[in-house]
Amino acid sequence: MKPLNALLAPLPTTIFTVMSALAAEKGAINLGQGFPDTDGPADIIAAAAEALTSGSNQYPPLTGLAELREAVAAANRRFYGIEVDPAREVVVTSGATEAITASLIALLDPGDEVVLIEPLYDTYLPVVRLVGAIPRLVRLEPPDWRLERSALEAAFGPRTKLILLNSPMNPTGKVFSRDELALIAALMQRHDAYAVCDEVYEHIVFDGACHIPLMSLPGLRERTVRIGSAGKTFSLTGWKVGYVTAPAPLASVIAKAHQNLTFTTPPNLQKAVAMGLAKEDAYFAGLAESLARRRDRLAAGLAALGFEVLPSQGTYFLVADFAPLGFTGDDVAFSRYLTEAAGVSPIPLSAFYENDPPRHFVRFAFCKDEARIAEALVRLARHFSKAKGREGAPLARLTDGARSA
Ligand code: PMP
Ligand code: GLN
Repeated sequence: MKPLNALLAPLPTTIFTVMSALAAEKGAINLGQGFPDTDGPADIIAAAAEALTSGSNQYPPLTGLAELREAVAAANRRFYGIEVDPAREVVVTSGATEAITASLIALLDPGDEVVLIEPLYDTYLPVVRLVGAIPRLVRLEPPDWRLERSALEAAFGPRTKLILLNSPMNPTGKVFSRDELALIAALMQRHDAYAVCDEVYEHIVFDGACHIPLMSLPGLRERTVRIGSAGKTFSLTGWKVGYVTAPAPLASVIAKAHQNLTFTTPPNLQKAVAMGLAKEDAYFAGLAESLARRRDRLAAGLAALGFEVLPSQGTYFLVADFAPLGFTGDDVAFSRYLTEAAGVSPIPLSAFYENDPPRHFVRFAFCKDEARIAEALVRLARHFSKAKGREGAPLARLTDGARSA
């Protein structure tokens, strides 16, 4: 039979699904895939349930319910001072995943170049390539993941169509600074490029850090697409409600991509998300505070066990270096090993790289209940004290069989 799509057929199943399946199979605590294990606000869920039984269950408008588009516009004004026309500049999608794909399809033609920042979320590259565009990767290095001017300048050129920026950034927990954003802005203007900004963790920033949408920088309003997700903002990742804010000429083409991908997004969920976006400031601050507490707990626990924990300024995630523990295998082997031997699952950081990934980092998700995080730390402590306790059997030798293929 004829071969199937040459880009999709050889792609492995996403690491998040692989590690979640392994965690379930081994009864491990899943600190891998980024989903909270407690659902978001009960009043939002009740609003969706109410809309399901007493509202319409037929196709909503193509670009989203008017009340959600208005709520997205109001949130842009409230949090960032960005003025948005809800009728022409908002498109509701089935998750940020669809929003990213729709935006890339809408803005790119074959042969266009796209600047991407590595480590990067795993849907970006396949979609860029499916469209026939050419990725130009800029790599950030641990521990501070700083964006270097020379590397960024080298990635931009006359064929650059857009930059895809994720801030706050999965998996690093980095929040791009105003100076870094200004650097990106200058290059966008110099090369007449657009930006697609994945800002799903916009409300999850810590320690007084500030999320600055690239769109809010001078001169960028007309060339920037900003993407949010109810999954992250309301701890309802299974709902898959995303929202795009873009200047009208871009939004109208993104809507055409959306009409050919999903056409619409469940109206009941949209109604509830509209209510959520209008929540008081304390809700949004509370979300970040609660996640910061859990980050601190996990970071301190991992550090006490001997991991070198990198700082996380935002998102659901922190990155830890396991080299100090003496494990001799790579990050994939370590993730399997931790899941099977200690009963705690992380994600290997190499999954977020195209070439030559570092091999001694894993990502832990702290968007889990405090009790689960505490239990995970107990399991790890028990495991590592046992491993150390065996005289003459350092972790390196205990795990020789755990190298990945
Ligand atoms: N972008 C990033 C950086 C993410 O971490 C995620 C994860 N869930 C998404 C996009 C997808 O969001 P959604 O579930 O709304 O599709
Ligand atoms: N964004 C989530 C993470 O980074 C995973 C979402 C997914 O499984 N596709 O863990």
